[in-house]
Amino acid sequence: MLRQYFEMKSRVPDAILFYRMGDFYEMFFDDAREAAPLLGIALTARHRDSDIEAPMCGVPWQSADQHIARLVAAGRKVAICDQVEDPRRAKGLVRRDITRVVTPGTVLDPHALLPGAACFLAALSPAQGEWGLAFLDLSTGRFHAGRLAPGRLEEAFALFRPREALLPEGSELPFSSDVAVSRRPVQWFERARAGAGLRSLSSGETAEHAAAAAARAYAQEMRPRGLPHVLDPEPLKFDERMRLDAAAIATLELFESSEGDSRLSLCSLLDRTRTPMGSRALKDAISRPSLDPVELEDRWDAVEELVANPDVRGAIQTELDGVGDIERSFGRIAVGTAGPRDVAAWAAGLRRIPGLRAAAEPLGCSRLRRVIDGMPDVSDLAARAERTLAPDLPVLVSAGGAIRSGADAELDSLRELRRGAQGTLLAIEAEERRRSGIATLKIRFNRVFGYSLEVGAAHRDRVPADWIRRQSLANAERFVTPALKELEEKILGAEERIGEIETRLYADLLTDLAGGADRLARASAAIAAIDLLAALAEVALTGRWVRPKLSRSPRISISEGRHPLVERHRRDEPFVPNDCELSPERRIVVLTGPNMGGKSTYLRQVATIVLLAQMGSFVPAAEAELSPIDRIFTRVGAADHLLRGESTFMVEMLEAAAIVRDATAASLILLDEVGRGTSTFDGLSIAWALVEHLHDAPGKSGFVLFATHYHELTEIALVKPAVANATMAVKEIGGRVVFLKKVVPGAADRSYGIQVAELAGLPASVTDRAREVLSNLEKQELDVQGAPVIARRAGESAGEGQLLLFSGSEELVLEKLRAADLDRLTPIAALALLASLQERLKG
Ligand code: ADP
Ligand code: MG
Repeated sequence: MLRQYFEMKSRVPDAILFYRMGDFYEMFFDDAREAAPLLGIALTARHRDSDIEAPMCGVPWQSADQHIARLVAAGRKVAICDQVEDPRRAKGLVRRDITRVVTPGTVLDPHALLPGAACFLAALSPAQGEWGLAFLDLSTGRFHAGRLAPGRLEEAFALFRPREALLPEGSELPFSSDVAVSRRPVQWFERARAGAGLRSLSSGETAEHAAAAAARAYAQEMRPRGLPHVLDPEPLKFDERMRLDAAAIATLELFESSEGDSRLSLCSLLDRTRTPMGSRALKDAISRPSLDPVELEDRWDAVEELVANPDVRGAIQTELDGVGDIERSFGRIAVGTAGPRDVAAWAAGLRRIPGLRAAAEPLGCSRLRRVIDGMPDVSDLAARAERTLAPDLPVLVSAGGAIRSGADAELDSLRELRRGAQGTLLAIEAEERRRSGIATLKIRFNRVFGYSLEVGAAHRDRVPADWIRRQSLANAERFVTPALKELEEKILGAEERIGEIETRLYADLLTDLAGGADRLARASAAIAAIDLLAALAEVALTGRWVRPKLSRSPRISISEGRHPLVERHRRDEPFVPNDCELSPERRIVVLTGPNMGGKSTYLRQVATIVLLAQMGSFVPAAEAELSPIDRIFTRVGAADHLLRGESTFMVEMLEAAAIVRDATAASLILLDEVGRGTSTFDGLSIAWALVEHLHDAPGKSGFVLFATHYHELTEIALVKPAVANATMAVKEIGGRVVFLKKVVPGAADRSYGIQVAELAGLPASVTDRAREVLSNLEKQELDVQGAPVIARRAGESAGEGQLLLFSGSEELVLEKLRAADLDRLTPIAALALLASLQERLKG
């Protein structure tokens, strides 16, 4: 057995092997050590009914799927090794084979998939300084391919978030990632490319062909029955979309909040979709905002019409509620793993399409009309399923009864025969009961022994002579008669034949349905598009969002903008709206203000509004006018990064370098506390030089919002015309400060750090002491003329100053008293000391 095991294992060295033994799938050796903790099951050393001694663990076959799903969700691959002959008929060791390999990027089991998220396999193929790149979602058939410079692959991964990456042997991903990696030989990639006719990709682009072909070939390996739902890949045109990198995705909390909660993300706030297709389309729209003015107007028109017609929208959404995930169900139909209930639910979903079309009839804008009129008629596919499937369906075809009566004449007559045989069985039971006089006699069925007459042990001697004994139990005996035996053969023969016919008819059904792949893909896409637009309209209406306007000249002009997430989730204080005005004459805003004043929120709010507009949504503002932004850069300072535990200053500088290198005149750049990750002097100098550079590099940098606690930076505005200063307004009321969260022109005059500490609940003893230190510090600034202010603040001048900085006046006086040598003091000197001490205390 172990030899067989190792043979199987050698075929799938990078997968955890589920090896079927009896009612369990067993894992051995390193597989067991790895899987047991992930599955929360016990690791043992010895098999229960053999003498194998090895680290092992096992799961019951009935619950295998959920365990596989868990391992796959944890990024592992699983190979399932089944018994491929009937153990009762096997001579010696049962033959086994690998029947299925499940990988994170090719899994189709609904347990392992999130309904609202795509599940991509990425395939990569490096060639001449570029990489061919393909993303395939096998669960839906969505397929994209393109080429990218190696430096941009990480960005593409941040957007598509693949669960698995397929690479040629010897290649590595050119960035660090925890995605599960699979490899195939270079020749395998070559063969795949040669064998694939990918019409949708321009010829000659070998790298993207190779990647797309490899993705398909790999998926095909996992699903040997074929992938009829995977159509040709759509070309990925990265340069026609707004660029968003991992930093921007994180800063704008597109998919997760800064604490890692997806329910508090922008995506979740927008997700009023009614179908999983719509929800997936939403993620796609957020990840790839448009740059095309025509497309943007088109989308806003559609949202506007749906906002203006809430009844029509409501009717559409009611239909959408009944559609379900027809796209993923179809994926399972296409690869042959859909169960009868899946197919029935799918057909019921298709039946909603005419209602959807009718509900949308009153709508007139061109985008909506295009989507609705382009939705193909698929009622024939639904009808095909309904003609075959029974009204009450088992989960598995093998359980029997999945096929409707009337679907097949032979099946009907066999079922008739089986029903008749049931009557005959009852007749035999009654007859033998009468003959033997055993009133408790019952006909039983058992998979191994078939039909038998069962009598309690007490009645053994009343059994007629012509009964043949079949089986003895503890307190009963089982018999057959020739008539029962004959009937049994008839029944079992009919059963077997019924099973065969049902299986064949069901397989035919799936094959026929799979033939509708092209129409299904179009129907799913249309439903997704309507669902998404209706959701955006619902969000716009409930949030009082407005339609953005396109500006022909470079501009970001927002009045009374709000940050949708802060507005929604921070309910403790009312949200304060803020304006934003950026144009070529006022390209850079240096925003100062106290900690907790609202600077970071303001920066993110502007970028969020831009992104919402370009994904086709309305925006949370009173008014907004924008020119398309080609990329959002975000550089968020050290303090906000600490959780991620990176070498922050290095990260900060890498990101700053990327901004300087890649920004264009149409980019939006958020710089939040840049320079914090290093000493004050370094940080301030770098921040200063960066702002100057962004100002002076013609055509190389777009709009910049720079939040900083370096007040010195506000002086740049004096010398650079396109730099403006803004600050977060603060009001002092009776010695306490209130942060108004309002952006106003000008520079902050104080930092209000101690007030922030008070707001944060530090005890008065600490904040009072801080005030004392601060006043010493300020006094010292007056004492030591000439040295730079920053140096003095940072405590970099030595001697008395240093001492003053950290001591209170009283302690200083005590210190001097203690140190005074009275034996050596003249009365005059003592008097002078006394005077100076008193002077100190007066402050
Ligand atoms: P800073 O970056 O200046 O330290 P933050 O942007 O982090 O300040 O905001 C501090 C706090 O104030 C956060 O809790 C945020 O939710 C809240 N806040 C920020 N801006 C506003 C606003 N415009 N209206 C209401 N609350 C806000
Ligand atoms: Mg901040």
